[in-house]
Amino acid sequence: MALYRPTWVEISTEAFSSNVRAVKKFVGEKVEILAVLKADAYGHGADLLCSHALKNGATHLGVSSLEEGLLLRQLNPQVPILLLGSIYPLENFSVALENDFIPTVASQEAYAALKAQAASSRKNWSFHLEVDTGMGRMGLSLEAAKKFVERLGQEKEAHLAGLYSHLSCADSDEAFTREQLQAFAKLKEWMQAAGFKRLLFHLANSAGIMRFKDSHHDMVRPGLALYGVSQVPLPGGIELKPVLSWHTKIVFLKKVPPGTPVSYGRTFVTERESVIATLPVGYADGVPRMLSNKGRVLVKGQRCPLVGRVTMDQIMADVTGLPVNVGEEVVLIGSQGSGRLSAEEWAEWAQTIPYEIFCGISKRVPRVSV
Ligand SMILES: *Cc1c(COP(=O)(O)O)cnc(C)c1O
Repeated sequence: MALYRPTWVEISTEAFSSNVRAVKKFVGEKVEILAVLKADAYGHGADLLCSHALKNGATHLGVSSLEEGLLLRQLNPQVPILLLGSIYPLENFSVALENDFIPTVASQEAYAALKAQAASSRKNWSFHLEVDTGMGRMGLSLEAAKKFVERLGQEKEAHLAGLYSHLSCADSDEAFTREQLQAFAKLKEWMQAAGFKRLLFHLANSAGIMRFKDSHHDMVRPGLALYGVSQVPLPGGIELKPVLSWHTKIVFLKKVPPGTPVSYGRTFVTERESVIATLPVGYADGVPRMLSNKGRVLVKGQRCPLVGRVTMDQIMADVTGLPVNVGEEVVLIGSQGSGRLSAEEWAEWAQTIPYEIFCGISKRVPRVSV
């Protein structure tokens, strides 16, 4: 694709690979990794990263929807792909079967639909059962899960390939997370006693992996950590590298006197003679409007304040005193010289989480592999 507008995202496959290896080393030989590549790998590009996940230690890929799964299936004919989201309408289980996806089952109705369609497709099939231990989003209650499993009876080894649950506050509430861990461990024990021994038990997201060793079980499901970001302090022995950086260039530069308003609403007015740079990137690209008069960008390695409101296609930065010309490269997220701006910092400015910053970088911004 032609890059006429000088605004792009760079994806370091080397940093991503290193993060996968770091998580693998941390969880150890016996624990498998399901690389969570939903939402186009958190905006990083799932097509670009899937092979690197697999080459560096992941055995499974995780996506949210059938659409996301189909994209990865074309590139990875053999790999187990777990669909983490719900499948609805239930006829759509046929698409999961045709493409050898592992669907998540979270209700008796979903299982009935899957089984009926599997009977006519005559393919090998398997599913993972999701139980709700406190996330309150998807999954059977613990009691319902036991009933489900009891009814499953004879078929057990054939199709039930995994049992999982999701942590709701591994980054913020240790006591509640321990309750979730305990509930999951108890169900696992009960199932193993009932003869379910070969399936994969899995529970941990990135924060769970880092903070709770006993959340690892047979497989872990890191997302954010693979992109080099952590919302919890990292334990000793693991280092993560940011995978994504976001770049643009100064396309317009002007020296203005004190009292000059900048952008919609005149929310910023210069107090001194200033040099204002215009950058060709805006909220349509995923720069949150919350960064108006708040965010920073790196120019010549220096943090320069965004002035005035973020507009749809452009933002302005105060670069007074820097020896810059039109065409100067500007870093929105990433490093330049000794300066660094992280997705975490953006998230703070925008009162959100780094996940939303990443997923918000729109399709309009080309991703370039470096
Ligand atoms: C998104 C997701 C993950 C990954 O979460 P991170 O916090 O990014 O590690 C794991 N499991 C499930 C079920 C998810 O939906």
